[in-house]
Amino acid sequence: MEFLLALRRRGIGDAAVLHAMDEVPRERFVEAGERSAAYADQALPIACGQTISQPYVVAYMTEQLALRPHHRVLEVGTGSGYQAAVLSRLAREVVSIERYRTLAEAARARLAALGYDNVEIVVGDGLAGVPSRAPFDRILVTAAATTVPQELVDQLADDGVMVLPLGPSGGPQHIIKLTKSQTGLAREELIAVRFVPLLAGQAREL
Ligand code: SAH
Repeated sequence: MEFLLALRRRGIGDAAVLHAMDEVPRERFVEAGERSAAYADQALPIACGQTISQPYVVAYMTEQLALRPHHRVLEVGTGSGYQAAVLSRLAREVVSIERYRTLAEAARARLAALGYDNVEIVVGDGLAGVPSRAPFDRILVTAAATTVPQELVDQLADDGVMVLPLGPSGGPQHIIKLTKSQTGLAREELIAVRFVPLLAGQAREL
């Protein structure tokens, strides 16, 4: 299939990640008017002025997490629920937090309709994480932070991995991979990306 070939060509090699990308129907997560573009390698607009990330970036960040079937994962920035769906195919449990209630409810309905029952969607400020469900083996942030949120680091399990886009809104951003160990936090800078900003607080409207 062309969608998977394009991901392979760009360097996604993890068979389990490719399988998850193949399994999750992206057209179910985009707006009705964008369905014809659902399998093109591009970000698309969703409600509340947000975007569903480009498939390559979803696959890349997922691959960098090195998920194992027993992992519990926190995603910050549910958006359409697409990334959460991909994570749910590779991990035991996914908790995903979104600051817009509208997006959270739509994502919840999509995931339920697809029978992806190991995802829990929470409405709230992801900068605070979800302390009641911590620690997490893996944390994925899908909106760009300007600094590493300490509360998320605190909710990462020992030997945990966090992947997040870091950089100013509209400016140079990179995917950062943080690995927690007894000796501290190892930091690796990966590819350049462009994400919507991580904003503090639950959205007041919608
Ligand atoms: N992962 C999504 C795309 C996310 S776009 C998908 O697969 O479709 C980034 C999302 O992060 C937006 O929906 C935005 O509302 C949300 N967001 C931004 N700041 C946030 C915060 N502090 N807490 C929770 N969600 C946040």
